[in-house]
Amino acid sequence: MSETGRELPSRAAVVIIGGGCMGVSTAYALAAAGVGEVVLVDKGPLGSGSTSKAAGGVRAQFSDQVNIELAVRSLETFETFADRFGQEIDLHRPGYLFLLDSPEAVAEFEKNVAIQNDLGVPSRILSPREAGELSPLIDTDGLLAAAYSPTDGHCTPESVVLGYAGAARRHGARLLPNCAATGIETVNGRIVAVHTEGGRIETDTVICAAGAWSRAVGEWVGVDLPVTPLRRQVLVTEPVPDLPPMAFTIDFATTFYFHREGPGLLLGMSDPEETPGFKLDRSDAWLPRLGEAMARRAPALLEIGVGTGWAGLYEVTPDHNALIGTAPGVDRFIYATGFSGHGFLMSPAVGEVVRDLYLDREPFVDVSGFDARRFALAGARPEINIV
Ligand SMILES: Cc1cc2nc3c(=O)[nH]c(=O)nc-3n(C[C@H](O)[C@H](O)[C@H](O)COP(=O)(O)OP(=O)(O)OC[C@H]3O[C@@H](n4cnc5c(N)ncnc54)[C@H](O)[C@@H]3O)c2cc1C
Repeated sequence: MSETGRELPSRAAVVIIGGGCMGVSTAYALAAAGVGEVVLVDKGPLGSGSTSKAAGGVRAQFSDQVNIELAVRSLETFETFADRFGQEIDLHRPGYLFLLDSPEAVAEFEKNVAIQNDLGVPSRILSPREAGELSPLIDTDGLLAAAYSPTDGHCTPESVVLGYAGAARRHGARLLPNCAATGIETVNGRIVAVHTEGGRIETDTVICAAGAWSRAVGEWVGVDLPVTPLRRQVLVTEPVPDLPPMAFTIDFATTFYFHREGPGLLLGMSDPEETPGFKLDRSDAWLPRLGEAMARRAPALLEIGVGTGWAGLYEVTPDHNALIGTAPGVDRFIYATGFSGHGFLMSPAVGEVVRDLYLDREPFVDVSGFDARRFALAGARPEINIV
């Protein structure tokens, strides 16, 4: 029996460890493809890891071709999500606007926009004046240009988890919140069971979707998943009367970003002095730097009171790109983790990819470059367009 008193299945075709956006999207994709006995376990409520802390941004503006393809495919799913899964996700598409204030950044984004356009993304470079029209609260002083894509936007991560979880269960998957995995049993390099707080589940396949906690899961089977937890905080303002429409705006140099959230704004920024660790408490250390970025790029925001805020974990890899693949050396351990702060927006497509890895089918995009061994073998594969 699990902690919640439910009967634990004694065996499964596959056990997914982690019930964030990656785990539930994968559970749905597998069950919908007809895979029986799909079991997912999460140590807490579904979506309670990084997914529920995400700012909800969904965009296809990346520098790495595979990220663009994963994001485009996911945007298509978000667009039809409510109809397909019967779950409203509050998708808004005001576009993403990257503000650029150095010639190097402009050159980099021009190159990225060309790659994105080749893959069907309608992104383009704008003048500072055009950027100001799309984001009326910014000060365009010192800006050289901006990159914009009108099909980017934001939606609600918890709703996406609910939609996938419900659909996975309707297709027969067993999703077990509050049931931590505690180990993986192997015999001669073959997985034979997953141990959980609620008991042992016999299986020959494990999918690691444990987000920031993945390194420990990999260690159970001797697989190095270089994922580091790094605290990231966001603030939500009080309601702002007469708030104009605006793009999801990011000051690329500082990573300061904001977008409309209900009647107010959600804002965030990276803290270069943050140190790795499973820190989920809020800290004020980042606020002076945030205040400086606001004063320079969107001084009007300094007049608005803060309503609430929270801290979550980025699941960072050495090159800020994901780890997706099937581990050699142990039969059969599949992983999809380390999305380095842009995983929510890729989760629909990643679920499809992991399903295909499980079924030994060719995924719609070649993810072999995201193999976790790349740091030891060919080297890193940097994604520069992260915030
Ligand atoms: C402040 C903030 C803002 C963000 N904004 C965005 C954004 O705008 N757009 C975007 O795309 N991404 C954003 N992200 C990143 C995004 O949240 C993550 O990339 C994404 O949620 C990763 O999903 P996941 O399913 O891999 O991980 P998680 O959601 O963390 O899920 C992993 C799950 O594994 C479970 N788990 C761990 N260990 C075990 C175990 N031993 N047994 C059972 N279960 C276990 C955890 O409880 C957790 O629920 C943001 C993140 C933060 C912190």
